[in-house]
Amino acid sequence: MKYTFNPQKRVLMGPGPSDAHPRVLKAMATPLIGHLDPQFVQMMDEVKDMVQQTLLTKNELTFVVSAPGSAGMETCLVNLLEPGDECIICINGVFGGRMADIAERCGAKVHKITTSWGQVTSTEQVKEALKACPNPKLLATVHAETSTGALQPLKEISDLIHDAGGLLVVDAVTSWCGVPLKVDEWGIDAIYSGTQKNLSAPPGLSPVSFSPRAVKVLENRKTKVQSWFLDLNLVKNYWAGAKRAYHHTAPVSSVYALHEALSIVLEEGLEKRWERHQNVHNYLKSELEKLGFTYLVDEENRLPNLNAVYLPETVKNEAALRSTLLNDYNIEVGGGLGDFAGKIWRIGIMGESCTKNHVNMLIGALKELL
Ligand SMILES: *Cc1c(COP(=O)(O)O)cnc(C)c1O
Repeated sequence: MKYTFNPQKRVLMGPGPSDAHPRVLKAMATPLIGHLDPQFVQMMDEVKDMVQQTLLTKNELTFVVSAPGSAGMETCLVNLLEPGDECIICINGVFGGRMADIAERCGAKVHKITTSWGQVTSTEQVKEALKACPNPKLLATVHAETSTGALQPLKEISDLIHDAGGLLVVDAVTSWCGVPLKVDEWGIDAIYSGTQKNLSAPPGLSPVSFSPRAVKVLENRKTKVQSWFLDLNLVKNYWAGAKRAYHHTAPVSSVYALHEALSIVLEEGLEKRWERHQNVHNYLKSELEKLGFTYLVDEENRLPNLNAVYLPETVKNEAALRSTLLNDYNIEVGGGLGDFAGKIWRIGIMGESCTKNHVNMLIGALKELL
């Protein structure tokens, strides 16, 4: 028997991964060098520099976890929380729920702010939670909830948690490099993202960054971090430039790809990239509405790059329509999760998948099918 894998080329318009830039795919074919080779160390320094630039932060403790976005989430929480700590977690979709699960596994006492899916957490809710939990170690929230398409405003929440003496932890997996995100200006203390959404690189890496305030909390830990691989005390020396010490073997080819993808973002310009996502969203929205799709999230908190939409009433079986799109048109869109399974679609326009041509392809196919 012969094993070959030649997948059909797809147009990726779901919740990630997005279409990769040909330059990024080419970078992955660069011959391997050792992960302690001075050339590789220099490239990692450049990656760190570009992650700082794209997060708009000067945080010294900024690096890339060698595992997907979920590992970035776990890195932030296992390092900042100790057994018995109290924390506040905002839950308005799948990923907030996952953060609460991880925090509980750390032995923390978790105060959950639960909001209906599709809504964002309000400052009133945070104020209420701070009455029940006046001294939280941290408050964690998802900037861009990929399960619902909601974009969480962060500035006011940041002031509230800092006034209470706690840290602000933010999931920016779907916001980084797609919508405005200003780590230092907004006072974000710990942040993680992923590579396969607006960055259009392959999945499998998670950039993270910690403010000086967060670093102080790390330095004052009383207990050992229970995860060896994600313990910042150990892994941070791997990103310490020329003084780099062996911790694990970096996924060399994936880091090549990330380096290239970050260069592309900076060539375009961060603000231009944010604008492009908004402009293509406006076009997609007007075309979808003409076909009878309606949005789940109110306009003021709507994420431009992940469009969560109800289907036109004439569509009785969304899953069948999604399969036809995939099998006959090679276009991938996402289905709903949780209570929204079978009810909504999640249409991603992220990074390389955020072009007018992508929208035209999808809308053209839908016009034939509906
Ligand atoms: C995709 C995503 C994650 C998880 O990232 P993985 O790379 O799949 O582990 C976490 N949070 C949000 C908001 C996401 O969209």
